[in-house]
Amino acid sequence: MKSGKIVKVAGPLVVAEGMQNTKMYDVVRVSEQRLMGEVIEMRGDEASIQVYEETGGLGVGEPVFPTGEPLSVELGPGLIEPIYDGIQRPLDIIRNQVGDRITRGIDIPGLSREKKWDFKPSVKPGTKVEEGDVLGTVQETVLVLHRVMVPPGIKGVVKKIEEGEHLVTDRIATIEGENGKDVEITLLTKWPVRTPRPYKEKLTPNEPLSTGQRVIDAFFPITKGGTACVPGPFGSGKTVVQHQLAKWADAQIIVYVGCGERGNEMTDVLIEFPQLTDPHSGEPLMLRTILIANTSNMPVAAREASVYTGITLAEYYRDMGYSVALMADSTSRWAEAMREMSGRLEEMPGEEGYPAYLGTRIAEFYERAGRVVCLGSDGREGALSVIGAVSPPGGDLSDPVVQATLRVVRVFWSLEDKLAYRRHFPAISWLTSYSLYVPNLQEHMLKKHGKQWMGNVDHALAILQEEAELEEIVRLVGLDALSPDKRLIMETAKSIREDFLHQNAFDEVDTYSSFEKMVKLMELIILFHTLSEDALGSGVPVVDIASLAVRERIARAKFTPEEKLDEFENIKNEIRRSFEELKEKVATEV
Ligand code: ADP
Repeated sequence: MKSGKIVKVAGPLVVAEGMQNTKMYDVVRVSEQRLMGEVIEMRGDEASIQVYEETGGLGVGEPVFPTGEPLSVELGPGLIEPIYDGIQRPLDIIRNQVGDRITRGIDIPGLSREKKWDFKPSVKPGTKVEEGDVLGTVQETVLVLHRVMVPPGIKGVVKKIEEGEHLVTDRIATIEGENGKDVEITLLTKWPVRTPRPYKEKLTPNEPLSTGQRVIDAFFPITKGGTACVPGPFGSGKTVVQHQLAKWADAQIIVYVGCGERGNEMTDVLIEFPQLTDPHSGEPLMLRTILIANTSNMPVAAREASVYTGITLAEYYRDMGYSVALMADSTSRWAEAMREMSGRLEEMPGEEGYPAYLGTRIAEFYERAGRVVCLGSDGREGALSVIGAVSPPGGDLSDPVVQATLRVVRVFWSLEDKLAYRRHFPAISWLTSYSLYVPNLQEHMLKKHGKQWMGNVDHALAILQEEAELEEIVRLVGLDALSPDKRLIMETAKSIREDFLHQNAFDEVDTYSSFEKMVKLMELIILFHTLSEDALGSGVPVVDIASLAVRERIARAKFTPEEKLDEFENIKNEIRRSFEELKEKVATEV
């Protein structure tokens, strides 16, 4: 294809003329250094190109080569384990080739061309197949069975299927299409990142994505296929929350997109993630994780690519029928990149200089989450849950990126540095967080955990709400001014906060709570509360209730190992006994 010529270079933006053969979002190679860029605006034969590598030294008159293809990722076995940059270049291989300073114009494919994979067919020649049907599997890592699917748009009869060791570029099957033409299938396929991958049907999310974190699962649950947003003030425990989700969320595949956070934070992720262990298997968590990291010497434009690269890889595993959780950190940096490019394109700015299409882009991104019926005749379901971190300047939630995000996501976990200072972890506020999935989950919760659980959750939240209101009064006139029933509210609220919500990520047992344990723990606290109300009615003073020895057992209950949950029944009995004794004591005194 005919090359164009650079007429202007402005930071990551390059304008070239003579580009009549390119389309919006086509990839081009800029200059003889072949820097990677993407067309983001066409005016006549002039293309504005966002370049994903440093543009320093580029000059007017240098050539721009069209590729005729949109920005795409490579899909196939081998995606898990390498750490990618925003345009799917494996960072470790780059480092081996060129050292720590990444030189420009490097062209390394996303999937290794040397590695062989053992392909095990699951269909025989003669089988009729359609798009999405599973042709066979490859054990990608010990934790991930990679399903090799008929790519979208292909349908026919399997003519040949080739078991054994294959490169990703080898033919593993031949399908005779309906038009009589043969289609060769390789392990490797490509997909344009800005186009959502197809599925058969989107379903309403109705199952929780359990995380083992009590404040989330009990109060502000996310669903499999749901969306959530979490702000990340520095020191609020955002990293720990992310690690906990990556480890414990019941998703088979984790995709983590480090989108242009400050250099050192990204380094933390690159160092820490590979050290995490998958608690279920004891294997390294990386064996079911895809890490995408923008290195600090990549320009802002690459943040945009990394977000799309991440979600496309996540959709690919969803299509295999897996539950996938994607975490993007931080989407604010992505939005800032959009703002910068928009400014350079001299577009009409919207709120705070962000482009007017900010909201649409953010919405389109989160809409790629969901629970779906995958392509293929087996009717398998897949889910992609998306959790985006936002980092508004000064923690200001009225920031346009936060607002645009909150309009589309259905869960908000409000991490507050205030709580972190008080060492209440996870520092997710029970007053400002919310989950709009609660109604969707009603049926599931009712069936699995019964009506009482849901009543208890509402009761606990109401008590915490009341505590917040009472705190104001206590600040003004002191605790003693409260009536006994209000003092009891304060006592119970404290117990909910300390014995239930507070969860130590570094304690071997407390780091994860099964739903069953959560339910039982909440039962203890609410039982204690209702019996206390009853005792108050019989004239027992609040101080006597507050000093009951059994409270210590409630406080320690969260450290009960999962295999000893029977213990909770004993604690319940002791609570009942304690109150009977208390009431007897009061009765004899009277
Ligand atoms: P951020 O990433 O927001 O800067 P971190 O996630 O690194 O903050 O958390 C800061 C510190 O807070 C951690 O080193 C840890 O000591 C403490 N912390 C955070 N979450 C928890 C938790 N769930 N349990 C115990 N300690 C926690």
